[in-house]
Amino acid sequence: RDIIIAIDAGHGGEDPGAIGPAGTREKDVVLEISRRLAAEVNRTEGFKAVLIRDGDYYLGLRQRTQLAREQKADFFVSIHADAFTSPRPQGSSVYALSQRGATSETAQWLADSENRADLIGGVDGSLSLRDKDQVLRGVLLDLTMTATLNDSLSIGGQVLEQLGRVNRLHKSRVEQAGFMVLKSPDIPSLLIEVGFISNPDEERRLRDPVHQQGLSTAIFSGLREHFQSNPPPASLLAWQRDNQRRPTGNEYRIQSGDTLSAIAIRHGVPVNQLKQANDLNGDVIRVGQVLRIPSS
Ligand SMILES: [Zn+2]
Repeated sequence: RDIIIAIDAGHGGEDPGAIGPAGTREKDVVLEISRRLAAEVNRTEGFKAVLIRDGDYYLGLRQRTQLAREQKADFFVSIHADAFTSPRPQGSSVYALSQRGATSETAQWLADSENRADLIGGVDGSLSLRDKDQVLRGVLLDLTMTATLNDSLSIGGQVLEQLGRVNRLHKSRVEQAGFMVLKSPDIPSLLIEVGFISNPDEERRLRDPVHQQGLSTAIFSGLREHFQSNPPPASLLAWQRDNQRRPTGNEYRIQSGDTLSAIAIRHGVPVNQLKQANDLNGDVIRVGQVLRIPSS
């Protein structure tokens, strides 16, 4: 299966987000960057993008994570642009959920019967709490939240490193905050502030298609790097990794004086298996011939 990346363009509709000094609206540039990111994801084998918002309309914050859950997303990224009262600040920032936000969110999830039903049943079969008692459910959910948070921080680090190649960084490490859109206990997530729309120079760059493409490519490079080294179970990337690493058995080059049965005994394999693995009909072998030794 493909690794599903949910891409959430911030704001939309009656909520324009921040507005730059030249009138650029955050909701517009983040949608453009999100669409470029989605195209990049979809061009890559083993990945599929889901655009949470693909037009100029508003979605509630809870709705956004809900859509990601319905699409069984492996990762959720929310794209925003920063703003400040002074025109000076600039650069990209990457946010993950804070530990405190995670813990309080766990409590809230447990209190919300709708979410609980979803989680207890197991969204994708990886987390089923149906047969656990209430206290244990709380503990398991907290552990899930922590594991998700660790994933988010690891992905965030990779994304930040890539962003630093195409843009100034506002903060050189992954920041943690209690953003509502990041609060889903079993989907790792990041919020990326691609730049400061309140900085006139950066506002202009955020509208530039070349810069937009550079940002999208950087974000996806970070994501891809993470998922290549940590592919989710049953994903194409996991399958490829497992098939590359499948042990191929050992090889033995025949020396003078060797017999098939002696080689078989020395390697602890039955003679017939040794013959089978090498397509041998008789017992004739020659010096220098390389035999595959099957793992017994
Ligand atoms: Zn925003």
